[in-house]
Amino acid sequence: METFKIVCAECHNVNTITNETMTCMTCQEDLDHPFAVEVTDESAKTHIEENDIAVIVDFYSTTCGPCMAMYEEYEDAALGFGQTVRFLKINADTHQQIAQAYGVSALPTLIAFKKGQEMNRVSKQLSQVELTLWAQSLL
Ligand SMILES: [Zn+2]
Repeated sequence: METFKIVCAECHNVNTITNETMTCMTCQEDLDHPFAVEVTDESAKTHIEENDIAVIVDFYSTTCGPCMAMYEEYEDAALGFGQTVRFLKINADTHQQIAQAYGVSALPTLIAFKKGQEMNRVSKQLSQVELTLWAQSLL
């Protein structure tokens, strides 16, 4: 049976699963998590590098107008994906280490990854439709 790795949105444990086992082995949380996940300097790399599913990262700041304007649209786009694309959020003010590691200089910056490899990035506000189309292109 085919297995793949998915990082738990709740406890950040790396699970190796089949399509039938969609529960975290550590915390029992559902791995089909259709919400954006706030990550830190510590947990971001695990999600970006260990997930077999595609990951989109939103580097934002609470003092950035376009970032805050996109907040709801980002959450709404995440609702459509669950265990197929993980939507992450990183506060680039409080987690500068990870923002620097990926060369983020403008906010918002959104980066898509597949198995740790950067696929593409944009540094502008996107709508829910644009985010959804982007995530679909990563499937
Ligand atoms: Zn867990």
